[in-house]
Amino acid sequence: MLIRILLCWFAVVPFSLVAQNPTVLRYGNGITSKELKDNLSVLASDVLEGRGTGTRGQKMAAAFIASYFEEIGLKGPVNDSYFQPITLYSSKAPEVHLEVSGDELTPNKDFIFIGSGGTGETIQLPLHFAGKGTEVDLNQVEVRDKAVLIFLEGASIRNNPALQQVRNSGAKMIFAMVEKEEDFKSLSALADVISRGRMSLTMGTPYTVTNLFILHAATGSRFMKSSPERLKKAMEENDLKAINPVTVAYSVKPGFKEVKTENVLGFLEGSDKKEEVLVITAHYDHIGKRNSGEGDLINNGADDDGSGTVAVMAIASAFAKAKQEGKGPRRSILFMTVTAEEVGLLGSQYYTNTQPVFPLEKTVVNLNIDMIGRSDPKHQNQAPYVYVIGSDKLSTELHRVSESVNKKYTNLVFDYTYNDPAHPERLYYRSDHWNFASKNIPVIFYFDGIHENYHKPSDEVSKIDFDLLTKRTKCIFYTAWEIANRENRIMPDVQPSNQN
Ligand SMILES: [Zn+2]
Repeated sequence: MLIRILLCWFAVVPFSLVAQNPTVLRYGNGITSKELKDNLSVLASDVLEGRGTGTRGQKMAAAFIASYFEEIGLKGPVNDSYFQPITLYSSKAPEVHLEVSGDELTPNKDFIFIGSGGTGETIQLPLHFAGKGTEVDLNQVEVRDKAVLIFLEGASIRNNPALQQVRNSGAKMIFAMVEKEEDFKSLSALADVISRGRMSLTMGTPYTVTNLFILHAATGSRFMKSSPERLKKAMEENDLKAINPVTVAYSVKPGFKEVKTENVLGFLEGSDKKEEVLVITAHYDHIGKRNSGEGDLINNGADDDGSGTVAVMAIASAFAKAKQEGKGPRRSILFMTVTAEEVGLLGSQYYTNTQPVFPLEKTVVNLNIDMIGRSDPKHQNQAPYVYVIGSDKLSTELHRVSESVNKKYTNLVFDYTYNDPAHPERLYYRSDHWNFASKNIPVIFYFDGIHENYHKPSDEVSKIDFDLLTKRTKCIFYTAWEIANRENRIMPDVQPSNQN
């Protein structure tokens, strides 16, 4: 009988098992879908042009968020400012000169250069013909510290065994000949892609493709005062030495453009545990406009990550209101909307690696929100859910808190599909929390899944499920409240040993 009664009680009042705190509930209920929608309608409007890093749309978004933080009474923690300025370096095609036996060649017509590296100074080297760069070929010519000319098979340069072999033999520069015009063209397109618009926090090489010259077979043979047929004959006869080396001189000056951007930070100081800081993040940048095409070209990024940005704003507002009414958090909370996420998590990387405004040792947890405004195909017409990623990776305690708070207040379905770092989508590494996790700071990443409008102009406000967005925002607010107010700080399971 007892069991039956208990079961019945369970079924009727599942929420009352653990008492909800009415104060917390009151502030949570202050988070409304109207406010979320009002703010998102600004951030994801066409006027902001997709909030591409460094664009005026991104700066308009930054100004909007900063004004909001000011209005609700948060402090600007970066020398009294809400903006943390960051300089990024956007790559342009490098400036390349190439001369063979005294003849200057024309880039993109006579040759393609793939890569960015170099200092701009001229390097002069003997150029040796090394067949196809096979082991047999490389046994015939000494290539260490030389420039090497080879025939490239096909147009694949990634993990190409011949290229790797030549590099491993100590060649300083590779000149690869292609015989088909289509291969030359496809490598030319690749050179374009990898040299343009890649952003980086440093002026170093932002990409990993090793420097390489691509030539037509006719051009390469002409370099050697020979013909493709004669070069091939030397290969057949295993007599590569029959082709005399010539002298090449080249210089590569990397091209960069400075891009100025900013994280936007609002700070709410805690009470008796104010030295300890909870960081709540969402990236407010998106991928900007499409360069060409028909119809709507603006990637509004309503879900990605306008939804997370307005959630951070609403959570900030709820905490600020609580503080004004004497219920402020015990720990401090940093609300940080992050820039340059879409170009490689660079805004958060800058914060954690270069310029943490608060000491990382005192940074308790990072709650990161990236896309929480929609349902993916798997969850259409299902109970309210959210993908929870990373909560158990660094702190068992954080995971426990996350679960129990949700059971107590919001009862969302926590889907852990993407929690496995080995999941092919690798989501654990794909948003800003990763830069905190890599510093051993426990994280939770909230996510709604991958949908058909991801990174498209159709990621619009009209597709947002504001009821669901509100529920998820409340869930994160309650979790943040618990982390900021509980007696014991959430700690990572493994702490760095003092011996090292
Ligand atoms: Zn995103």
